[in-house]
Amino acid sequence: MDGARVTIVMTERSLHQCHKHGCDAQVDWSVDLTFLSRGLGAFRRRISCNSTVKVCGAHTQHAMEFILSPINRERITRWMKAENYPPPDFETAEFEFKRLDHDEITRRFRDSLMAQREDQENHAA
Ligand SMILES: [Zn+2]
Repeated sequence: MDGARVTIVMTERSLHQCHKHGCDAQVDWSVDLTFLSRGLGAFRRRISCNSTVKVCGAHTQHAMEFILSPINRERITRWMKAENYPPPDFETAEFEFKRLDHDEITRRFRDSLMAQREDQENHAA
């Protein structure tokens, strides 16, 4: 039994699996969030957040609720403050769903593993 290989397979599978707890479906969509900051005129800025949330077709509503959950709102608000932005206006939140390309996900994942491995080898040398 090759332990390392099992881990890779499982991790790779999780990249393709719906974010919703208990859902076993393959993901179809990644979700990004944009919103305006509070403030007037030029101070009102458009903020884009890339999320790592991916869901199947049945759970797009869940993804939106998760992204705008109290804990995530708090996280975003804290980040805005740390970056010296005005507070976020979540009333203006818009979601962008992007259809996922599974071959692309797998290829990128393998590339990043290769890069890690090369990095480790370079450190060992
Ligand atoms: Zn799902």
